[in-house]
Amino acid sequence: MKKIISLVLLIGISLNSYSQVTDEAIVLSKIRNEGFKNSEAMTMLKQLSDVYGQRLTGSNEYFEAAKWISSQMKQIGLQNVHFENYCSDCRGWDINSFNVEMIAPNYMHISAYPLAMARSTDGIISGEIVNITSFRDMEKVRDEFSGKLKGKIILLGKEPKKKSLEESIYFRYDEKELKKMKDQLKTNVKVTPLPELFESWKIGDKSDEEFLKFVEGEGALAVLKTRPMYLGVLHPDGTYYYKKDDFKPLPYFTIMPEHFGRLYRMLKQNITPSLRLNLETDFYHDSGNNVNIIGQLSGNDPKLKTEEIIIGAHFDSWHSGTGATDNGASCIVLVEALRILKRIGYQPKRTIKVGLWGGEEQAFLGSAAYAEKHFGKLHEKPNAASKKVSAYLNLDNGAGAIRGIYLQNNELARPVFEDIFSPVSNLNTTSITIENTLSTDHETFDYYNIPSFQFIQDKLDYNTVTHHTNLDVLEYVPENDMMKNAVILAWTIYSLDTMKEKVPRKIKN
Ligand SMILES: [Zn+2]
Repeated sequence: MKKIISLVLLIGISLNSYSQVTDEAIVLSKIRNEGFKNSEAMTMLKQLSDVYGQRLTGSNEYFEAAKWISSQMKQIGLQNVHFENYCSDCRGWDINSFNVEMIAPNYMHISAYPLAMARSTDGIISGEIVNITSFRDMEKVRDEFSGKLKGKIILLGKEPKKKSLEESIYFRYDEKELKKMKDQLKTNVKVTPLPELFESWKIGDKSDEEFLKFVEGEGALAVLKTRPMYLGVLHPDGTYYYKKDDFKPLPYFTIMPEHFGRLYRMLKQNITPSLRLNLETDFYHDSGNNVNIIGQLSGNDPKLKTEEIIIGAHFDSWHSGTGATDNGASCIVLVEALRILKRIGYQPKRTIKVGLWGGEEQAFLGSAAYAEKHFGKLHEKPNAASKKVSAYLNLDNGAGAIRGIYLQNNELARPVFEDIFSPVSNLNTTSITIENTLSTDHETFDYYNIPSFQFIQDKLDYNTVTHHTNLDVLEYVPENDMMKNAVILAWTIYSLDTMKEKVPRKIKN
């Protein structure tokens, strides 16, 4: 009897409190339920990164992966899924085979990876090494090495600085750091307008061209360089010769820091190692490979459906890993967030668009082409369509959990995100910082004066291990972080969509 009374009491209490539960709270519960119990994020990422692998801009692999993810997007019920071409003359490049070995004074297999767009060797080649410490002063290089490089393999650079394992290589933000970002009063990071940024990249990214042409002209066989990394990680991004008529560099590798160091130190002891190597690569050009992948959940509100919320992440990767952390995990989180919203039956008021961009690693090629097509030419005033976009959200800082958002100097958006993040504070998403962050596609939309935001994410081992390296693989993607990110993103999209007004635009001085 006692038991029954208390049950009746309990029902009474819960009915009473249920009536006070807001629609928002119910939606958040549904999002959490779908995102944490039925997540498909890791299943999708395994397919993308293990089966399809690297997605270098212009490559057939990129396009195969694009076809697969667009079929996923259709399967979860997105509308108007289609490709939009972003580059007519970006070329493709593949590796068929390579090997690098030291054969004298004794044998060592060298851990190496070719830089993108390097040409093949003429079969298996061998030669002694010559060190050139820098190509910054080409007059000096010509003076010192003219006539001395025939049949040689160039070791480019100085002995790399050792990365001590006493340093921490794995980071999650602690409360103190997040608070510091939140308390920041003004930005410290300067944003360069897109046209200037693109101009500077055109020059900076090809700074080794004169050097590579010189050593090849002198008869050198290959160039090896390195970059200080922990535990022998290889960091072979670049080169940036990605257009079909661009120069094709001679065989060009990154090798493991300590292997570089050993070769370098032997030269200093007047011992000249010989290497044997081969590289077989293919160049091709199929502009049909160069596509952004676009899809949407169409808006349903008679007044608001012409407005848009855009979410984006770059889909291309560098070539030595599988692009799991840069930026496969983020692309999957975007698709998973929309899957969650679709599965819980949410009917958006505004149109929610997703853009998976190509060519980000080269020069924001995909997002810039999209913006030019839809929002007006780069050098002109943004058009009326750009004003219909309430916000652009970007995800591209590795596979770590979302911990907040960069306001990108848009103080007027602070209350918007305070409201959005408050119900998910128990997912540790707390920091809203005025700071600008750079180097990814939200810069494109920001330039068009669309409120554009990139999330703050736990760094994990992104900058120290996986970013643009041969360890950019599935192993470094924590499933829990992906699930959380999809839930936070779905909630953020929902919250922005249910606002009466668009997100306030930055007041530009
Ligand atoms: Zn990236």
